[in-house]
Amino acid sequence: MGGNDYILPVLPDYNRLLLPYLEAENSGLAGLLKSFMARLFPSSASLIELPSAPLSNELLTSFRGWINAKLPSPSMATTAFISTYLDDIGGEALVKGQRPEPGQMPQAGQWFLHVSFEDAGGTAEISSLVACHWMDIWWRENKTKIGREILAPHGVWPSDPDESPARYGLFFPVDKFGYALYLPPGKEIKTPEGNLSFMLDGWLEDYHSPEETAEIHRSLKSGVPVQLSEGKCLCQLCAESA
Ligand SMILES: [Zn+2]
Repeated sequence: MGGNDYILPVLPDYNRLLLPYLEAENSGLAGLLKSFMARLFPSSASLIELPSAPLSNELLTSFRGWINAKLPSPSMATTAFISTYLDDIGGEALVKGQRPEPGQMPQAGQWFLHVSFEDAGGTAEISSLVACHWMDIWWRENKTKIGREILAPHGVWPSDPDESPARYGLFFPVDKFGYALYLPPGKEIKTPEGNLSFMLDGWLEDYHSPEETAEIHRSLKSGVPVQLSEGKCLCQLCAESA
C-alpha cells in the first residue's frame, strides 16, 4: 500500500499492549507458525505491529472534528480535499516498533505511531501529503491534550517529540480541484510544453472532464501564486493562521 505516513515517536505500555501480544503470538498454532517464519525471515521477526483499531478510529475522528472546528467556512479547495479524500480514503493509525529482547522493555526511538494516509494507487499522492501536513499542525497545536486524552487511554505514550515541523511541501488551493503541491525551481516537471511548477492528484482526471483539467493546467502554467516562492504555504489552515 502506498501513501505517506505521519510518524510520532511513542512507547507502548508493556503490560497492557506488548505482553498480551507476545503471549498470544507464542501460543498455539500461531506460535508454531511464527517460530517457523522467524527461521525463514529473521529480520521481519524483529518488527511488531500492534492491533490499534480503536485508537486509530478515535485519533482520526478527533482530527476530523478539529478540522471542522478550525475551518468553519471551508474553502472550495478544502471542501474538495475533505469530501474526495479525507472522508473517503483517509488514513489509519498503526503502532509499530522493534521487538524487545527477552526480559527487556520497549525502547524509546524504536516505537512509532504511524498515521498512514493512502494514496489510492498513486492517484491521490498530493492529498495524502496535505493530510500529513494538517495532522502535523493538529499535533503541534494539541499534543499535550492528544497524548493525555487519546493516546494514553489506549496504552500509548508520546516519547521524545521532535520539535522541528515536519515538511510535506507547500500547497495552494485550486478551487474544486483541491490542493496542488508547489514544485520549487529545480524540482519542476519537464513537459514538452514547458516546465510545470505544481502537481495535482492524478485522480482528478476521473472526477473532471479532460477540458476542465486542461483548462486548470493552462491557467496554472502562466504562474503559481508568488508567496510560494517565499516559502509560504497557502493551504487554508496556514493561510488563516498567517
Ligand atoms: Zn499549509
